[in-house]
Amino acid sequence: MIESLRRSRVFAAVTRLLAVALLPAASLRLPGRGRYLACQWALAMRYPAEDLTGLSEPARAAFTAARTEAFWRDRQLIGLTSGHRDAARQHRLFAEEVRRTGSVAAARRRVLPPHESAHVRGTALDVRPVEGAAWLERHGRAYRLYRRYDNEWWHFEYHADTVPMRLPNPDALRPVALARAAG
Ligand SMILES: [Zn+2]
Repeated sequence: MIESLRRSRVFAAVTRLLAVALLPAASLRLPGRGRYLACQWALAMRYPAEDLTGLSEPARAAFTAARTEAFWRDRQLIGLTSGHRDAARQHRLFAEEVRRTGSVAAARRRVLPPHESAHVRGTALDVRPVEGAAWLERHGRAYRLYRRYDNEWWHFEYHADTVPMRLPNPDALRPVALARAAG
């Protein structure tokens, strides 16, 4: 844990140096928003596998604004592990979890079926590392990004108009018909 914390600090320092080096080019490209753009470029190099496509436009804008502030003000990196998923992929994840846990009820505590998943709607973001998620939990409200579940430190959702309830797990808001069926 200490080793990984040290590693993540080194990564954060290198990414910051990179962003500072990219700042002049970013400022030319996007006058007045150089720090924003340099941060996105540097984070894209730090997290080359991340994919922000398919997120709803307000969710994407909120996330990039939040992590720009985390980056420049608090030197905290925030990466996206998983954002938008299409319904077929979400269905596969759900089916795998049902197989792994042996029941629909147990699976729902970790993965929701497509029609209930905010990932399919493009408004959910699974983030990393733990420290980045902790930053987002402290400051995300200003960007309308909220942690939803006690058992998923990484899962945040964008809610434009309401403050969503914090739940023990994704199954806690089970539709009534399903709850009856499951007893
Ligand atoms: Zn999630």
